[in-house]
Amino acid sequence: MVRNLRDEPIHDRYKAVTERTIQRYPEWEALDPDLCRAVQVVSRVLPFRVNEYLMRSLIDWDQVPEDPMFQLTFPQKAMLEPPDFRRVAELVDRGASRQEMEGVVREIRMGLNPHPAGQMTDNVPELDGRPLPGMQHKYQETVLFFPARGQTCHAYCTYCFRWAQFVGMPEMKFEARESEDLVAYLRRHREVTDVLVTGGDPMIMKTKALRAYLEPILAADLEHVQTIRIGTKSLAYWPQRFVTDDDADDCLRFFEEIVEAGKHLAVMGHFSHPVELSTKVAREALRRIRDTGAEIRMQAPLIRHVNDSADTWAELWREGVKLGLIPYYMFVERDTGARNYFEVPLARSHRIFQEAFQQLSGLGRTVRGPSMSAHPGKVRVLGTARVRGEHVFILDFLQARNPEWVGRPFFARYDPDATWLDDLRPALGEDRFFFELEKAA
Ligand SMILES: *Cc1c(COP(=O)(O)O)cnc(C)c1O
Ligand code: SF4
Repeated sequence: MVRNLRDEPIHDRYKAVTERTIQRYPEWEALDPDLCRAVQVVSRVLPFRVNEYLMRSLIDWDQVPEDPMFQLTFPQKAMLEPPDFRRVAELVDRGASRQEMEGVVREIRMGLNPHPAGQMTDNVPELDGRPLPGMQHKYQETVLFFPARGQTCHAYCTYCFRWAQFVGMPEMKFEARESEDLVAYLRRHREVTDVLVTGGDPMIMKTKALRAYLEPILAADLEHVQTIRIGTKSLAYWPQRFVTDDDADDCLRFFEEIVEAGKHLAVMGHFSHPVELSTKVAREALRRIRDTGAEIRMQAPLIRHVNDSADTWAELWREGVKLGLIPYYMFVERDTGARNYFEVPLARSHRIFQEAFQQLSGLGRTVRGPSMSAHPGKVRVLGTARVRGEHVFILDFLQARNPEWVGRPFFARYDPDATWLDDLRPALGEDRFFFELEKAA
């Protein structure tokens, strides 16, 4: 599939579009009534937010509903189980009270595994016995930081595993109001080389806010912190952030300052589909960021209906390499939210990965995957094989709670339907995986 570089002018207005405002748009008028209803019903349960850039430059309305960017951002009927859909639809139809709606919606949300992999309890670091909100420290070299003001996004991905924090389930929010604790924690943890600022999307913040969080880290002169990573979808959903927003220039200036302070600035760009790289404004944003000395890496999950094709990934990575980006991770859709609609079995995920990988030059083969961010670590499906007559998956850890687990191939029984680590069973006569027998460090 080859798409032409889109020629639309660079829109510099920012307008978020939600369930309430979308009805003012001509795209909505033209949309099939069933699709409209799906948006109205499902968005009661799962977050919905798009913007004018997505609607005008990324979604190809002639391809709707199959269009990948439409699938990526517009709630789909099948994201809810049919009985749940009917329950909410019925409440919408009879204009049920807010209270009644909230009760039902909450029940459905709780059934969607709102915080997978023990996120809330297992990885929160402590300083003198005090838990530090808005931080996670799971793998020794990297601390995650969730600034409070970076916990929304320019648009919401329909499959998002952080969906719970966007729908006002406050007990499920991670957020840090300032970075003082982070700096104190980093002073004591010399093993940390990377700080990964994430959300939501930290690039939703004004540069001033971003500076307020990150300047203390630079000022603290922490030699062991080599890399500041910023995880963001803004290059796909709102590249204007780096081109025409009021504080775009100051943002790039700040990126330069991070680089001048001797840090590697790694923009971890979330790219789901090559169309996201096709607009003028996206390319201008990439060019401007790279001019600061930052590197841009590409990562995204493999999502059914959005990017479950080898050619799509090959095109994405090739196009990325051409633009100077570094392919990094392909993830497996997490075990949360509307996973039934979006998940791709591991066996198929691996085939898609391999077929895409085979189409790249070595410069694109920096990418690793398909990888599951599971409780013990990031587990990659390396391939399948026959060992002593048994059909197996070969897996390894790309990251692990115990660093000694990384890079040790292990086996699981082949299962064409397995979609997550929990579905896998040890192979070759073992009854436990090696990491289940050892204590996490
Ligand atoms: C993925 C991830 C990281 C970063 O891992 P890298 O392999 O270094 O990119 C850090 N912390 C958590 C919790 C993660 O899921
Ligand atoms: S950009 Fe990231 S955090 Fe935001 S909705 Fe998409 S997947 Fe979720």
